[in-house]
Amino acid sequence: MALDKDCLFCKIIAGEIPSTKVYEDEYVYAFKDIEPIAPVHYLFVPKTHICCAKKLGSDADHSMYAAKVFEAISKVAADEKIESFRVINNCGEDAGQSVMHVHFHMVAGRKMGWGEQSLG
Ligand code: AMP
Ligand code: ZN
Repeated sequence: MALDKDCLFCKIIAGEIPSTKVYEDEYVYAFKDIEPIAPVHYLFVPKTHICCAKKLGSDADHSMYAAKVFEAISKVAADEKIESFRVINNCGEDAGQSVMHVHFHMVAGRKMGWGEQSLG
């Protein structure tokens, strides 16, 4: 686990900044989004500093964290009986990525439309 001392989500993983944890294992940390856009809004992050989805897919050492994140999402969905949900990753500025530590939003608990404004 390589954390970046200047990264907000690395500080959350390290416990230096408080968060409301919903799940944790060796590879993944998940917590409640501070500005939820739906009744359920969790962020799933690899427990190592990876900037973004481009880097996550750059080689097998990184991409195994994508598998671990989705395993964690499935576990949380099963534990919390969340039948329907949306997973979102924003990669890069134009897509709306504001924290440069790759993260997957799990959003649920309300009817969702489709289109770029539907979750704003
Ligand atoms: P993105 O815009 O895709 O980079 O998502 C970043 C998300 O991080 C936003 O939904 C923010 O509300 C959320 N966020 C920022 N700071 C915190 C924090 N300290 N604790 C929990 N969520 C946060
Ligand atoms: Zn980080």
